[in-house]
Amino acid sequence: MFVVGLTGGIGSGKTAATDYLARRGIAVVDADLASRRVVEPGQPALDAIVDRFGEPVLQTDGTLNRRALRDIVFSDEAARRDLEAITHPAIGEELRRQILASSTPYTVLVSPLLLEGSQKDMVHRILVIDVPPDVQVARTVARDQVPDTQVAAIMKAQMQRDQRRALAHDVVENHGPLALLHERLEALHQTYLKLAERHGG
Ligand code: ATP
Repeated sequence: MFVVGLTGGIGSGKTAATDYLARRGIAVVDADLASRRVVEPGQPALDAIVDRFGEPVLQTDGTLNRRALRDIVFSDEAARRDLEAITHPAIGEELRRQILASSTPYTVLVSPLLLEGSQKDMVHRILVIDVPPDVQVARTVARDQVPDTQVAAIMKAQMQRDQRRALAHDVVENHGPLALLHERLEALHQTYLKLAERHGG
């Protein structure tokens, strides 16, 4: 099982990249989706969150009140650590489960936090999608209709561009047109197919 970890800053084009690889028949495991799945009603992580933080973190329909939880952990470091101690192992388990269930020649794990924690230990190769900061801001503002100051604040909290690039085996520049992104990804796709074969599938 050969796993390519794909990451990049906000608005760099991670989804645009995984959309392309998915069209090429590659299974994409999404850490953002997994992090939402593990706190759905009935999941043990949600029960543990309610045990720790109380009923106010639930909405009336029993789903997680993300805003309430965010407000609690925003100003309380110990609370944030407790929350992560609940969610991170659950997310890791969910990602491993999905990776093991994949039967495509290689599997992509896409995660905005691939390099910050232990998720990078799940992958054999690190691919960073990279654009200059002004492009990150412009594309995110256009996509989400949010103020550029909000995007800048998120970028500041994320790993810095140089550090991310330094940890990558492969970097794909995405400040040009989508067709060029696809061309670059196609070349890497061919490389990954070969590496996966050598790795034993
Ligand atoms: P986030 O971390 O916020 O989830 P992301 O890394 O997944 O973002 P995308 O959503 O793929 O980034 O891209 C950000 C925006 O830029 C989207 O609206 C996308 O359609 C657009 N985009 C991505 N690549 C290009 C490109 N090469 N040319 C033009 N627009 C692009």
